[in-house]
Amino acid sequence: MPGIGIRISKNDITLIFDELENNRPFEACGVLVGSQEGEKITVSRVVPVKNSNRTGRSFELDPTEFYNAWSSAEKEGLDIVGVYHTHPVSPAKPSAWDKDTMQNTSDVWVIAGIDGIFTYRMAEGMVETVEMI
Ligand SMILES: [Zn+2]
Repeated sequence: MPGIGIRISKNDITLIFDELENNRPFEACGVLVGSQEGEKITVSRVVPVKNSNRTGRSFELDPTEFYNAWSSAEKEGLDIVGVYHTHPVSPAKPSAWDKDTMQNTSDVWVIAGIDGIFTYRMAEGMVETVEMI
């Protein structure tokens, strides 16, 4: 299987970890705005979105903020290529809730947790790691 890769700038990764810290004990979430060419995803910017669930175990992107992020991306000819969320007290691995939710999307998922930051996607019903390039 050809490897899919995602490119996220150091600044954007720092932003995600700042969101992790600032939203403790709750999960933080947001979208990745960018483009995809073949198997290479390039993130132009990371846009934090309010977590409507406000729990430490799951997240739900606030619909209005999500729409605004999508709308401004579209005006620039960009897409929402993925979502990120944080695990303030656990490793950056998809939880059972995450896996269930990932079934419904083809987007990549960036998860930042206590052991670092990793990217995943669902491929044929299985969670696959996406290389961060
Ligand atoms: Zn999660």
